[in-house]
Formats: sequence, C-alpha cells, structure tokens
Amino acid sequence: MKVLVINCGSSSLKYQLIDSETESVLAKGLCERIGIDGALTHQPAGKDKIKSTPAMPDHKTAIGIVIDQLTDKENGVVESLDEIGAVGHRIVHGGEKFTKSCLITDEVIKEVEECSVFAPLHNPAGLIGVRACQELMPGLPMVAVFDTAFHQTMPEKAFLYGIPRKYYDEDGIRRYGFHGTSHQFVSLETAKVLGKDIKDLKIIVCHLGNGASVTAVKGGESVDTSMGLTPLEGLIMGTRSGDLDPAIIEFIANKENKTASEVLNILNKESGVYGLSGVSSDFRDVKAARAEGNKVAAAALDAYAYRVAKYIGAYTAAMNGVDAIAFTAGLGENDDITRKAICEYLGYLGTELDEVKNDVHGETAIISTDDSKVTLLCVPTNEELMIARDTVALVK
Ligand code: ADP
Repeated sequence: MKVLVINCGSSSLKYQLIDSETESVLAKGLCERIGIDGALTHQPAGKDKIKSTPAMPDHKTAIGIVIDQLTDKENGVVESLDEIGAVGHRIVHGGEKFTKSCLITDEVIKEVEECSVFAPLHNPAGLIGVRACQELMPGLPMVAVFDTAFHQTMPEKAFLYGIPRKYYDEDGIRRYGFHGTSHQFVSLETAKVLGKDIKDLKIIVCHLGNGASVTAVKGGESVDTSMGLTPLEGLIMGTRSGDLDPAIIEFIANKENKTASEVLNILNKESGVYGLSGVSSDFRDVKAARAEGNKVAAAALDAYAYRVAKYIGAYTAAMNGVDAIAFTAGLGENDDITRKAICEYLGYLGTELDEVKNDVHGETAIISTDDSKVTLLCVPTNEELMIARDTVALVK
C-alpha cells in the first residue's frame, strides 16, 4: 500500500509518500511559509529537488499542491490519487487518551482538540492538516500517530510530579514525554541489530536533535523519558533550557519585568546551547566556535554532554541495568565528537566506545568495542516510516 505521511506545523508541512511493501520513499517534500507566501521543495525518489514558490494562503491549498506534485505527469510518482491507500498524520499530544495510533473519526478529532491545552501550537496545526486532507481526499482512511503515545506505558512513579495531587487528578498535569515515534522506532531497530527479542532488552535511546530527549525502554516499553508535560523539560537543547529550578522563572520575571509566559518564551526559544553559547542553536556552529577557542561555547557543549550522561545514569538506575544505548536524530546520528564526549562519562558501566567505529554518520552501526559490556549504537531515526507502518496496520 502507498501511504501519504503528513507532518503539519503552523506554517509548514512535511510529507512523504511511502510504499509500505518495500518501505521505500517514493517522494518527499516540504511546504513552507504557508499563510505568508509559500515555498515548496519536492523530491521524487532518485531525482533532484524541485523548488518553486506557489502561493499557499492556507494548508488546504498546500496539500492540494502536494497532490498535484505527486500526480504530476513529469515529476509525479503515482498516476492518480486512487493509488494512495491511506494517510498517516503526526499528532503531537495525545494526552492520556491515546495510548497508541488510531483511525481518525469525528470523535478522535474532538479528543485531539481537548488535548490541545498542552500543545496549543502543535495540535491545532495537526488537525488543520487532517481536515484539509479529509476535504481533498474524501473517503480515504486516515490515521493519527501521536508523539506521546509510546510513553503511555510509564508507571505512575515516573510520570507524577511532586506537586499537589489535585493538579494531576483534576487537570492532567503529569509527564507525557515526546518523540515517542522516534524512541519506538530506534529501540526496535536496536533490538534488530542486536539480534535479540526487544522483550529481553533494556535500551536507552538518546534522541539528540534540535529538540532532544532520552527514553528508558524496558522490554519494548517506555518506562521513563526526559521530556515532561511539554517538550521543555529534560536535556539542554538547541534553544530550550531543559531542567531548571522553577524559582528561576520568578527571578527572571521580576528582573526583566516579564510575565510567566514571556519567561517561558525565553526558556523555549532563547535558552539551551544557543542561550548558553550566544553563538547559535546549530551544534555545528557552536563546535566551530569552540574550535576557534571560544570558551563560552565550549562550556555550553560540556554542559550539554554532561546532562545527557546524567540522564543515562538515571535511566540505568530506573531499569536496574542497561544492555544498549542508541544515539539518534541530527546530532546523535552525525556528531561523533558529542557521542564520544557523552560516552566518556559511562566507563563505570563497562562501556567502551570504539573510536574507529564511532566515525559513522547517518548510518546504523554498533560503535562500541566487542568487549564493551553495554552496546553503543548509532541508529538513524525514521518517524515517517513508523507512521506509515502504524497506518497500514490500522487500515488493513
Ligand atoms: P529537529 O528535527 O529537532 O529540528 P534534527 O534531528 O534534524 O532536529 O537535528 C538538527 C540538529 O542536528 C541541528 O541543529 C544540528 O545542530 C545537528 N546536527 C546535524 N548534523 C550535525 C553534525 N554533523 N554535527 C553536529 N551537529 C549536527
């Protein structure tokens, strides 16, 4: 079956058309500046990227343009829409309601709307994509795949915050976790590489992209994860602070005469490696600055690696051991230097990084020595493929 995977943001839309039998990408692309002017990058498999600037006043128009591209005589990859069997949508927040992917119905849409309180930018954007697809591809089965669903197996002790219980009972304030599709995909791949049943494994997945999170996966289930009610908690990220003393929020608010939301904006968009280094949110730029002797940039990268290592320690304790640690996403897949910096803290676990094998970028590989007590891996994530797999499983 050919599955269209849609990842809709407030002004952008990523898409992939995936052949589920071969698990290959037939075409992929990105619509940007929706509602502003419009920019399209479309790439049929094996061909060059095609860039254009069609007007995209809204998401429906953008999806119409995507359909035109996919069915285009010259650069298209299908004869007509009839060849597409289903659409899989990435939805960020599924609250406690959605413990796995599901077929989209009116009821599901209503419940996703209710989960929007915790993802006020992302969930409405996801639903705009769903509605636009429903209008343009009526009758086609659609599936919602949630970033939070994989983490719904976390035990209460892992998801409760130490605040009055009523905020959980009445308002659902708890750890939800994100990047679930990626953590699930990478843990499954890790088990495959190790040639073992995932049920017998304790895996720590480090998803290190611009947004970043670590998950403890025991027996194939998420038992703890570093992001919380929102994606702000946990690791130091590109622009997000990650964990901090909540009292800092009041301090910054008073000092800068800002509201709580304005301070949260600083913690989300002006903090992390960007805020610490003053250089960039892109790790390549910060590493280049460090190489030129920028000490503040070096301190930011040290703090970053140290925080990841602390989470690995915590999750080893949470699972009473660890068999494998997998690195994924932009930085985890490509940055051997940061992987090495993190692994330098892990000697107490009996891990041994193989520096030759660690020289790997964007490929699945074991990067530890044969003697290492814990297997270290680089595993490229593929959230779109995971969405396509879930979609097919529900539609068939
Ligand atoms: P997201 O999906 O959260 O935007 P990605 O997983 O695409 O993020 O990761 C993007 C980040 O990966 C970039 O900010 C960049 O800093 C980092 N990155 C990509 N390649 C490298 C590399 N070779 N070295 C260091 N960092 C890299």
